[in-house]
Amino acid sequence: MKIFNSLSMTKEEFIPLEPGKVSMYVCGPTVYNLIHIGNARPMIVFDTFRRYLEHKGYEVNYVSNFTDVDDKIIKAAQEEGVSAEEIAERYIKECRKDMAAMNIRPATTHPQATQEIDGMIAMIRTLIDAGHAYEKNGTVYFSTRSYQNYGELSHKNLDDLRSGFRSLKVSGEEEKEDPLDFVLWKPRKEGEPSWPSPWSDGRPGWHIECSVMAKRYLGDTIDIHAGGEDLVFPHHENEIAQSTCANGVPFARYWMHNAFLNIDHKKMSKSLGNFFTVRDISKEYDLQVLRLFMLSAHYRSPLNFSADLMEAAKTSLERICTAAGHLKDVSEKGTDAPLEGKAAAIAEEAKDFIAKFDERMDDDNNTADALSVVFDLVRFANSNVPDGAPKALAEAVLSVLLELTEILGLVVLKQEESLDSEIETLIEERQAARKAKNFAEADRIRDLLKERGIELLDTRDGVKWKRV
Ligand code: AMP
Ligand code: ZN
Repeated sequence: MKIFNSLSMTKEEFIPLEPGKVSMYVCGPTVYNLIHIGNARPMIVFDTFRRYLEHKGYEVNYVSNFTDVDDKIIKAAQEEGVSAEEIAERYIKECRKDMAAMNIRPATTHPQATQEIDGMIAMIRTLIDAGHAYEKNGTVYFSTRSYQNYGELSHKNLDDLRSGFRSLKVSGEEEKEDPLDFVLWKPRKEGEPSWPSPWSDGRPGWHIECSVMAKRYLGDTIDIHAGGEDLVFPHHENEIAQSTCANGVPFARYWMHNAFLNIDHKKMSKSLGNFFTVRDISKEYDLQVLRLFMLSAHYRSPLNFSADLMEAAKTSLERICTAAGHLKDVSEKGTDAPLEGKAAAIAEEAKDFIAKFDERMDDDNNTADALSVVFDLVRFANSNVPDGAPKALAEAVLSVLLELTEILGLVVLKQEESLDSEIETLIEERQAARKAKNFAEADRIRDLLKERGIELLDTRDGVKWKRV
């Protein structure tokens, strides 16, 4: 399998550090508002990649954070007259709802920056002791000149950057020894959340959060680090510098970056105000349509959002659903003829679509081409499994179709089952919360399910559920 590695700017064969296992970190959203569909792009494409890795037999440890302390969160809290914590908790909940509705599986761990402050203080201390960071009046900066490979990911000309930054003095940070140095810890301002530290009562910089959470949940060297391409510089560049200098070993071996979701060919972003939230879109479309729309482009190509493309995605999804529904119908009402002769040959041929699909996905997560294999399979099913065909044949072809759509995270069988998959996702989340001893969150999910008329039963064979 090949992955385009932003570090080398080439497609490289993917070889995990430990055979059969993959550790993967995906930068998550800053939670101060509902997520927009631009934020949904990395969530969908990397969730799909994770599902594909699992289909290939890898055990994937998938970590994606919530940035729950940040200037934007503090500003939103001040505007509403509530605490920053309340804002963050509210939008984490909403984000989880949107993720479930897009059929994005919960990460193995969703760490939150505010729960990891001790680890950040420890890493900053290590960096200061090793001469990679320095303190000035309660602020700690990373010394970019102390890391000789600084700039290796973004492939930037540092001298140009330095002179650019010099002319653009950032207020309050004039005490930096170099214009490219960045904040690891900053003192609190009136009314801001803060934690005690050896340097000041304050809070961490954004970049150190991800270095620490990746280390804690995945280790010093991880297989894959992913996020949107806007994070390459400075965020990921800074993560590499911090982690490499603190841990003494390389940080991430493969870097994957998705291109932007655009609108009128401009990046969709909160600051430009040209965005749709996932919630907005859910009012007009089943979010499976949004998922299919995202996967219909290669993740490294810009994707322009438009009503026409969404309508096309809707039609495409309907085509797959109709074929799946038909196969299901034949598998219940078809003949009881055994799977032999021509029918057996068709069932065998259907399996070839898995190899074709894998071939596309092996080429740098090419979901666009993988989707076209799914459409080939739909055509194949429509012409080879008519009404009255053997049940066993319909079942065999349906199982291939479901295997492929499951990797893409598309729910293609009727509504009741798509509802079921949302419930399963919530149950998985509850299990993860219990494992992390986050009982408040586990109870919250149980109550949420109760509101929807779902009762959970903890049995010896795991969690079962029923509609009440
Ligand atoms: P943020 O909340 O801005 O830190 O973004 C969370 C994630 O969404 C990051 O991986 C960003 O790179 C990604 N992201 C934000 N806007 C877009 C966009 N318009 N297209 C694709 N990815 C985006
Ligand atoms: Zn990050």
